Amino acid sequence: MTKTFSVRTRSRTTFVDITAEVRSIVADLGVEDGAIVVYCPHTTAAITINESADPDVVRDVIGKLSELVPESPAFFHAEGNSDAHIKSSLIGCSETVLVRDGDLVLGTWQGIFFCEFDGPRSRQVVVGAL
Ligand code: ZN
Repeated sequence: MTKTFSVRTRSRTTFVDITAEVRSIVADLGVEDGAIVVYCPHTTAAITINESADPDVVRDVIGKLSELVPESPAFFHAEGNSDAHIKSSLIGCSETVLVRDGDLVLGTWQGIFFCEFDGPRSRQVVVGAL
């Protein structure tokens, strides 16, 4: 029981708030109580849960990740996007979210983000009920 939707990213590194799409898929899937997985089938992107109220939080996360893993010609991978692969592994390609009474169990300030590290591109997000 899965559903897939597309995310169009508009810059090389950006986080897209996908909470509304995920919430609507939970309703489509008819999940009332349990859990879902939000999964990204890409090697240079990721899924995370973090603050969605203040966009400066995402700016700070992106800024610190870029500082920790800068683009560099020194990596072995010939495609030139090893920094994006490393950031993808640091953040991880999925999140598990509990569902209660048909809605996501998220804190007041939490949102679900698609993390793009090698855009702009059209990407896929898969949501599956557990
Ligand atoms: Zn690559």
